[in-house]
Amino acid sequence: MADFSQFTRRKFLTTAGASAAAAVFLKGCLGNPPSSTPTAQTSPTAAPAVNMGSGEAPEVTTAKLGYLPIVESAPIIIAKEKGFFAKYGMPNVEVSKQANWASARDNVVNGSGAGGIDGGQWQMPMPYLIGDGLITNGRKVPMYNLLKLNTQGNGIAVSGNLKGKGISLNIKDPAVIKGFEKTAGRKFKAAFTFPNANQDFWIRYWLAGNGINPDKDIDLLAIPPAETVQGLRTGTIDAFSTGDPWPYRIVADDIGFIGALTEQIWQYHPEEFFALRADWVDKNPKATKAILKALMEAQQWCDKPENRPELVTILSGRNYFNVPAKVLTPPMEGKYTMGDGQPQINNFQSGVLYWKDGRGSVSFPYKSHDLWFLTETMRWNFHDGAIKDFAMAKAMIDKVNREDLWREAAKEAGVATADIPTSSSRGEEKFFDGVVFNPENPEAYLKSLKIKAA
Ligand code: CA
Repeated sequence: MADFSQFTRRKFLTTAGASAAAAVFLKGCLGNPPSSTPTAQTSPTAAPAVNMGSGEAPEVTTAKLGYLPIVESAPIIIAKEKGFFAKYGMPNVEVSKQANWASARDNVVNGSGAGGIDGGQWQMPMPYLIGDGLITNGRKVPMYNLLKLNTQGNGIAVSGNLKGKGISLNIKDPAVIKGFEKTAGRKFKAAFTFPNANQDFWIRYWLAGNGINPDKDIDLLAIPPAETVQGLRTGTIDAFSTGDPWPYRIVADDIGFIGALTEQIWQYHPEEFFALRADWVDKNPKATKAILKALMEAQQWCDKPENRPELVTILSGRNYFNVPAKVLTPPMEGKYTMGDGQPQINNFQSGVLYWKDGRGSVSFPYKSHDLWFLTETMRWNFHDGAIKDFAMAKAMIDKVNREDLWREAAKEAGVATADIPTSSSRGEEKFFDGVVFNPENPEAYLKSLKIKAA
């Protein structure tokens, strides 16, 4: 490959746009697991220029993106830290740590113009709920779901008081939890940090799959993250559903053990998403695509095993998670000490994945996944049954899910055609209890579930 002189390189970067160079860079980074032998193509400055025209310039160079200090946010942070936002013409993107999910929600309702954010990292189906005013006191702020940040990387932590009772993926004796009150004087208490979204769904799925009704047999409630760890330690709560690195810390600090990893409940499950306010996207479609390209490149970077040590260093830093690097390393390597006599897990594919997994694209926002989250919303009758039927759910998805923008951005960034899904559906999804979700027939799935809201 030709070696450009400094002058030539600078000239082509300013005239052709850095995105053209990045297109070739992306092509050199594909593969699952990614190749451990970098090629000359991975150097963006060594790539030939392709003139994409001045029409590609984003409308704005800034956006304010929220994130939470959990592994799901890695692509947003890496896009900033590695200069990918800048590379695609958005040098002034700000990433803003959110105190919790409720703050992120309130900040996106405000928007960046009023000191808030334009969007960022979300549990599902938060962008839908915010758009329909269901968790914003009726204030509707339409949002677009644009990209999946990751699959896997979450788990259910259980109190050390419950060791030796066979509480794992398949709970040996559900009566230990259902009949908790008889021995403990109160119901089994489980928690998540934000209601009606991923962590709530994971623990509900796990319990129900084990024959335990999360609404009747136990107390299930929302508690701030710091209090979940404290509660587990002091014995006021018995389990909580959370994201890496928290499950690891529970075991490392000998507070409890991991009952189940979410990847055991549903392998390669969709986890968190990137979504922006619809008004921002409608006004800035090119800037939206620039952000998506930067995130895609960051996702590819994050998924290379050889980049994980640097990823841990960046994420654990004071500016971001502010945690000891050692708590992030094992989950980032797919190493989980489950505790309570369960076998250790040591498989990169069992941890958080950002670009590709065993089912194909991680990044692509499949409509079939949005449908699962809305189906579960109906299953548990969240929001007083605001989602009435599948016709309504599908209409919501067609409005909120912008897989079209993902595809355009991927094409413009030079992502290989084979890595751009042609279908809106990832197909059938299979859960640990043998239940199958067929996106073509969500009614059958819902009907088949034994435990659900009446
Ligand atoms: Ca999560």
